[in-house]
Amino acid sequence: MSPENPPREEGNGDDAFLGSVSPPVFRTSLFTFPDCASFEKAFRGEGDRFIYSRVSNPTVRFLERKVAELEGAEDSIAFASGMGAISAVLLAHLSAGDHLIMFARSYAPTLALTRGLLLRMGIETTLVQPSEVSRIEGLVRDRTRLIYTESPASLTFEVTDLGLIGAAGKARGIPTVTDNSWATPVFQRPLEMGIDISLHSGTKYLGGHSDILLGVAAGSRAALEKVRAAATLLGASPSPEDAFLATRGLRTLSLRMRRHEESAFLMARRLLLHEGVLEVLHPALPFFPTHGLWKKQFSGSSGLFAIRIRGDVRRFADALRVFRIGVSWGGFESLVLPHAVVASAHPADDLRSDIPRDLVRLSIGLEDPEELWSDLERALAASR
Ligand SMILES: *Cc1c(COP(=O)(O)O)cnc(C)c1O
Repeated sequence: MSPENPPREEGNGDDAFLGSVSPPVFRTSLFTFPDCASFEKAFRGEGDRFIYSRVSNPTVRFLERKVAELEGAEDSIAFASGMGAISAVLLAHLSAGDHLIMFARSYAPTLALTRGLLLRMGIETTLVQPSEVSRIEGLVRDRTRLIYTESPASLTFEVTDLGLIGAAGKARGIPTVTDNSWATPVFQRPLEMGIDISLHSGTKYLGGHSDILLGVAAGSRAALEKVRAAATLLGASPSPEDAFLATRGLRTLSLRMRRHEESAFLMARRLLLHEGVLEVLHPALPFFPTHGLWKKQFSGSSGLFAIRIRGDVRRFADALRVFRIGVSWGGFESLVLPHAVVASAHPADDLRSDIPRDLVRLSIGLEDPEELWSDLERALAASR
């Protein structure tokens, strides 16, 4: 070994996994021990041995450390889906008789959880509209145990003042949580604004290829302690295979995010000038209501935004050829979601009745932007 080529452990450290440049997939449910003494030691939480993959697995742990680094967090916990992360965080921090403050423009299944499972367990929720966020302190009660936000808002994309929420939580000793799936840590770092837990649907941009389901919650060890205990018992642990694919996704995350940003912002600006479009809901557009806050909190915008069109939304969606109709987002392929088609069938629909029925959500993928634009132009013409 020459001095110019020092052994890894003398350089930047990590010589784990025999120097393999890519982390191996530990596809195993359990780990065995050479003797009872080491087995007992592992159960006491001493040393670094793994016991059972529902509790922890080296491939999953590798991903958790990477996400924690990106979020500037002490640690993170990975889950089998974004909803796995969301429900574990809520169930870990709330008990019967407690009060939850939740942003009214959160992801619809998150809202459905508060009025279903949480309500049944005796947990009361106050929904806060985007316009009421500045008055959040007035909504805090003696039994408020969690403040939950999502920024920007699901479907309507208003940005929430996370600094204000974080400060309100800290002043009253109430943990604060935000869903950071839209921005990813590449474009927003909520913990730096005083938020305690930043969570993700890793199914979207972190994975980035529409081929896994995954969730992650990042925060301080203290904020995650209860969550880790609940996660183990709730059993929403990710498979090592999906954790590996998410880790691989992270390697291109910043590259992909920049391309999503560029293409989506180009589409948003062109759509704004198109006669067939009534409104473009994109937080990076200067006229958009919360644009000032967006500039303060985000270092970029992702590929997901919405439009309202003059024509018929079903005709518009049906005429698209490159964009495909579907839920979810964050992968290579561009997607369209006409709100009206799914809204009335959703259990949380009455909580979102003020969202315009002519709203169409676009997820701008990684295809050639000019091909995407021709597709949008053609479909807008067909919608009239
Ligand atoms: C998709 C999504 C979730 C839920 O994630 P799953 O991985 O589908 O469980 C949560 N929040 C947001 C903003 C999402 O888009």
